Amino acid sequence: MSPTREFRIAVFPGDGIGLEITEPCMAVVDAAASRVGGLRLAYETLPAGAGTYQQVGTALPDASIDAARAADAILLAAAGLPDIRYPDGTEIAPQIELRSILDLYAGVRPVRSIPGVPSPLADPRGSRLDFVVVRESTEGLFVSHRKGTVREDNEAEDRLLVTRRGTERVVDAAMRIAATRMTRGGKGHVTCVDKANVFASYAFFRKIFDERAALHPRLTVDHVYIDASTLDFVGRPWRFDVIVTENMFGDILSDLGAGLIGGMGFAPSADIGDRSAVFQPCHGTAPDIAGQGRANPTAMFLSGAMMLEWLAEQHDEPKAETAAATIRAAVDDTFANGMRTWEIGGQSGVREVTDAVLSRIKEVAPA
Ligand code: ATP
Repeated sequence: MSPTREFRIAVFPGDGIGLEITEPCMAVVDAAASRVGGLRLAYETLPAGAGTYQQVGTALPDASIDAARAADAILLAAAGLPDIRYPDGTEIAPQIELRSILDLYAGVRPVRSIPGVPSPLADPRGSRLDFVVVRESTEGLFVSHRKGTVREDNEAEDRLLVTRRGTERVVDAAMRIAATRMTRGGKGHVTCVDKANVFASYAFFRKIFDERAALHPRLTVDHVYIDASTLDFVGRPWRFDVIVTENMFGDILSDLGAGLIGGMGFAPSADIGDRSAVFQPCHGTAPDIAGQGRANPTAMFLSGAMMLEWLAEQHDEPKAETAAATIRAAVDDTFANGMRTWEIGGQSGVREVTDAVLSRIKEVAPA
């Protein structure tokens, strides 16, 4: 028998519903790992977020950064609260800071329908979506995060930066994802979403996209303007396979994608760099439902599955891949069997979903 493989995971529960979905996620990841066998996760829980800012005056302590950097992967639930802000009025967002500190340039946001979760689209194809938004996560409009200026209470200015290096690496990541999906029946198609008809920065993004795409003759590509892409998200989202786009556009499109698959509670994400990666649900801390047990932990569980999948690739560890597939199968089975969370008109929250997924993990075949 092969020896047990251990991965060190830095965990940031954060604030709001983040505090409610973290332990269930660790339980789900552990259950999948023990079902597969020979796999162990060693967690280190770290402070960050609005609560931490209130307690110690910094939202992301240096010790937390060091521990995150040293870990094999980082699991982050959700951080920031609207009532606790920096003196300049901006919200506390250690997840954004981690992206730049750890150079996590590829924001991977799968838009995958879960069987049984109702789609807002009438067309049956809207219930079988499977595409990925890849959001550039270190530059674009977010380069201005906490650096924008307001002059004499009269005009405000933020900067949008698109660099060759930043664009090449995120486009390359999108191409790799499309090629990998192709081995599992994917279309092998990458769409560049931009506003190249109006702004020099987006025209540059498109030019680099075309240069990199030329290196992948087996993949097909196209370009869509951001405004037209929102129309396609609603009208025919099944046309997409992999989308790559600038940071702010990706921020907006990934919420639109979450809306297509049932809501924020179903949408996982990964922010991936060359050395580190953070896995977290697309949603925020949901202060409107925090503390009520109403949160849907599914996005967090699926982020845990993405983490296992990434660890499998990084360390050539098929057991982690099987554990990821086990979580996905257990989630699918749970909803296919009638689970209804609050956001889709039911009455199930963290506890019900967690218990159901944990019990399915013991039974399902990995998807
Ligand atoms: P951020 O700016 O950090 O993304 P936000 O307040 O804009 O935060 P969310 O915290 O994601 O956005 O919440 C948006 C809406 O989605 C809220 O109504 C919230 O209750 C709901 N929501 C978010 N996450 C979940 C979840 N896991 N389960 C159920 N509802 C959720």
